[in-house]
Amino acid sequence: MDLKSFIRDIPDFPKTGILFRDISPLLGNPDAFSFAIDGLAKLCHTWQPQVVAGIESRGFIFGVALAGSLKLPFVPLRKPGKLPGETLKLAYDLEYGSDALEVQRDALAAGQRAIVVDDLIATGGTAKAAGELVRQTGAELVGYGFAIELADLGGRDRLVDAPVRSLLRYD
Ligand code: AMP
Repeated sequence: MDLKSFIRDIPDFPKTGILFRDISPLLGNPDAFSFAIDGLAKLCHTWQPQVVAGIESRGFIFGVALAGSLKLPFVPLRKPGKLPGETLKLAYDLEYGSDALEVQRDALAAGQRAIVVDDLIATGGTAKAAGELVRQTGAELVGYGFAIELADLGGRDRLVDAPVRSLLRYD
C-alpha cells in the first residue's frame, strides 16, 4: 500500500514556510492506518520493547495503536501540568522559545525496555527531550519509532542514544 498517498501536504501551516504533513487522511482510512501500525510494529519489535512511550499529542495516536499491536503498556509523555501525582519534567528549546514534557515518576520501571514514539520527526528536538525524560525515569531507552521522517532536517543525527526507525521518509 502506498502510505504516502494518505499524507496530505499543507503549505504554509501553521506558519509561512512550513510544509505541514497532515496525517488526517491516514487516520480516516482504517485499512491504511492499520497497515501503518503493522509496519511500525515490524520496525520496532526487534528492539524487544517492554513499554511504549508516546509524545503528546499525535504520538499518542500512533503510540497507543502500536502498544496495542505489540501487546505492551503505553505511557504518555505530556505537556506540563496535565499529569497528576509525582512527575519528572524536561524542558527543551524550540526554534522560538522553549517547551517541556512530563512523565509520571512511577510510569516506567528501572531497566524497563522503552521505545519513544511520535507521528513525525523534524529537527528531532522533541524526540530527544522525550528520550532523555524516559532515561531519567531509570528505564532503558531501546529505540525511537516514527511514522514520518523529514530526513533533510537531520533529526535522527540528534538522537544518538538509541536507534531510530521511520515508516515514511521525505527527503
Ligand atoms: P521536531 O521537534 O522539530 O522534530 O518536531 C517534531 C514535532 O513537531 C512532532 O510532534 C510533529 O508532530 C511536529 N511537526 C514538526 N514539523 C512538522 C511538519 N512539517 N508537519 C507536521 N508536523 C510537524
